[in-house]
Amino acid sequence: MDQHIEAQGDDRQLNVEPYWLPFTANRHFKADPSPRILVSAKGAYYRTAEGHELFDSLSGLWCCPIGHGHPRIVEALTRQAQTLDYCTAFQMSNPVTLRLAERIADMAPEGLDHVFFANSGSESVDTALKIALGYHRLRGEAGRFRMIGREKGYHGVGFGGMSVGGMVANRKMFATAMIPGVDHLRHTHDYAEMAFSKGQPEWGGHLADDLERLVALHDAATIAAVIVEPVQGSAGVIVPPVGYLQRLREICTKHGILLIFDEVITGFGRMGAPFAAQRFDVIPDMITFAKGITNGIVPMGGVIVRKDIYETFMQGPAAAVELFHGYTYSGHPLAAAVAHATLDVMEEEDLFGRVRELEGVLEGAVHDLRSETGLRDIRNIGLTAAIDLEPRPEPGARARAIFERGLREGILLRFTGDTIAMGPPFISTPDEIRRMVEMLRGLIRAER
Ligand code: PLP
Repeated sequence: MDQHIEAQGDDRQLNVEPYWLPFTANRHFKADPSPRILVSAKGAYYRTAEGHELFDSLSGLWCCPIGHGHPRIVEALTRQAQTLDYCTAFQMSNPVTLRLAERIADMAPEGLDHVFFANSGSESVDTALKIALGYHRLRGEAGRFRMIGREKGYHGVGFGGMSVGGMVANRKMFATAMIPGVDHLRHTHDYAEMAFSKGQPEWGGHLADDLERLVALHDAATIAAVIVEPVQGSAGVIVPPVGYLQRLREICTKHGILLIFDEVITGFGRMGAPFAAQRFDVIPDMITFAKGITNGIVPMGGVIVRKDIYETFMQGPAAAVELFHGYTYSGHPLAAAVAHATLDVMEEEDLFGRVRELEGVLEGAVHDLRSETGLRDIRNIGLTAAIDLEPRPEPGARARAIFERGLREGILLRFTGDTIAMGPPFISTPDEIRRMVEMLRGLIRAER
């Protein structure tokens, strides 16, 4: 295993109080922070302040596919910082960002060939929603203002992404602040019909017809876009049924509604292809991305758009700004340099091919847990998998206990509610994948 660089000073003596942790039970964390302080990382492993080595079963937060401390990234970051550390994003650009836009467009499905950069998944989603509104308006269809999301969807925490998102806990505190006109497709997860499916469930393609219901209810002439994650990641790897995404595409095309794939998790190889759009052979009108593009090392996100959407904005005086939108750090050169290094490694090591090979290993290992007690479902696709635990003794309690025990036994797991999700780094070996699942088996047994 690679050497970790030792952390400086005594990281167990930290004052944790001033920090307000995101999406975290702060009081629970602060009551016993020590096992949860990470001080270094290398390859597929973290090290805690207590000296434990943890297998990174979710590639950070789905964002570090080529592992931690990669020398190519360190080198690219250093070189770029020495060359051009920041470039004014408005009215100016730089070679590394321009080349990255071209490179991403080349990887994208046919016809999606313009890239707008943001800095996170949330910003990317809000950008895509604004582009959808602007596109319809410029075409004389300003009446198309509605956005359709999906139950259990996660599209970040901006006002737009939160509104189209379908996770109840993320919405209820902000119910009065939702953008207007949003509705949601029903989700596709049905225990009775698809529990323990391997890969795409055979049942459920017809659930896409729910979009026809919403079109009938609201009138297609009021709907701007449908946004879905091809595979719902944060909800716990909810895999699209066979034919579902194809059907959504057909209905959107029929009614002139834009289809946005939020590929913040699925983009850049997690499905064994550049994008889930290619894996499932369905081409949306826009793709949002973030996370894996920079291996999680420097924040970056963006939207890839169809040529004619871009062209629709290119009207009026040539010297006039066409889209009043952008971020100080759009296309940040450090992020762009790291993105190139990440993509170089992915290409040179054929990591998408490796994901396709590891998919079978993960599928075999994770479905072998089926005989363990108290499991409701196991799902997998690409290099992702999730298990749902029976919600006992009370909702979330067992998953939390498994997570905490994992920290003592050598694995960092991701749990939300009663679901444990896995998305190991692409550089993992088959043995590491099997060991990860066997560790989980031990934890499930220990926390019956
Ligand atoms: N969209 C999807 C599909 C995501 O999974 C996430 C984060 O997990 C986001 C958007 C939000 O990304 P960020 O946390 O970078 O804002």
